[in-house]
Amino acid sequence: VKVLLTGGSGFIAAHIVDILLQHGFDTVFTVRSDDKGKRILENHPGTPKEKLSYVIVKDVAQDGAFDEAVKSDPPFDYVLHTASPFHFNVQDPVKDFLDPAIKGTTGILKAIKAYAPTVKRVVITSSFAAIINPKQNVKLYSEKVWNPVTWEEAMDHSNVYRASKTFAEKAAWDFVEKEKPNFDIATINPPLVFGPIVHYLNSLEALNTSNQRFRNLIQGQFKEQIPPTGTFLYVDVRDVALAHVRAIEVSEAGGKRFFITAGFFSNKEIVEAARKTHSELESKLPAKDAPSDFPSDIYEIDNSRSKEILGIKYRSFTETVADTISSLQDVGA
Ligand code: NDP
Repeated sequence: VKVLLTGGSGFIAAHIVDILLQHGFDTVFTVRSDDKGKRILENHPGTPKEKLSYVIVKDVAQDGAFDEAVKSDPPFDYVLHTASPFHFNVQDPVKDFLDPAIKGTTGILKAIKAYAPTVKRVVITSSFAAIINPKQNVKLYSEKVWNPVTWEEAMDHSNVYRASKTFAEKAAWDFVEKEKPNFDIATINPPLVFGPIVHYLNSLEALNTSNQRFRNLIQGQFKEQIPPTGTFLYVDVRDVALAHVRAIEVSEAGGKRFFITAGFFSNKEIVEAARKTHSELESKLPAKDAPSDFPSDIYEIDNSRSKEILGIKYRSFTETVADTISSLQDVGA
């Protein structure tokens, strides 16, 4: 059974590659350069070419970007689409975020419909960003909730990442409804993803966005003042990666969104977990009585669909914090 995985060099995708191989899938991933493709292959020594290989897709926003990548012999059975920009260095909201997110998603769906008729399901990495509704006092977050962000609001640099994920996911569901392709889709909607990095792809300088607070903590930037938590929900990267693979393995996953979260956290709780698991960091950490910004009236969450349908058993917060810190220390933090 053969799978195409886009954005193979990403933080989450690196873990997806490992789980696909463990579960016996033949995997082809896309990367933007030969250099990255080769580095990933070199770090899977002994894996034969028919099990793991790559194709170049330079820019997912280009028309027809995936037209060649989706063609394969033997043909693909499933596609996992993770490639999308995630950073906060916004210059041009449309060019940097909205185009790659939206056109990347509709582009791959069009290419599959036109050139890859054997594909049965496409799993798309969406986000809690496409669920969160900052305009209303939502009491319970689940797959039923949608971010109501408008195109105009997306031009505000602080909104554009969330908007890009919302519009891309909407475009995917609209495509399936209007075009009625041979495949169905499922979306994976995680909040902040923490966890070990794959060392051959990441360095402290080029660290994926969601792990950056751990680097800052290790470097002592939380000592004087713990920064605001932002979104109070997290999940471990290994659980997110497994959810993607389970979403192709479980037939009932088709046609569904999956809110993939282990639960609540705050930066203060990261500090306290780090104090327990990495005592050598003590001098870099704030005092035990440093205040927490966790709200007393926080919403509730329902992640039951991910457990019941995908069978996800979420890792504990302590395990996630411990393994994230150790992994960053291994690259010199
Ligand atoms: P990374 O930044 O590590 O990965 C992003 C991937 O997308 C990289 O492989 C990158 O390629 C690729 N990419 C970005 N823009 C383009 C483009 N224009 N053309 C081709 N490839 C492109 O981030 P994550 O692993 O964290 O993110 C993966 C997915 O998960 C994204 O869809 C993101 O929105 C989603 N997500 C992430 C969360 C998190 O907290 N990490 C939370 C919720 C959702 P390159 O390496 O060459 O830059």
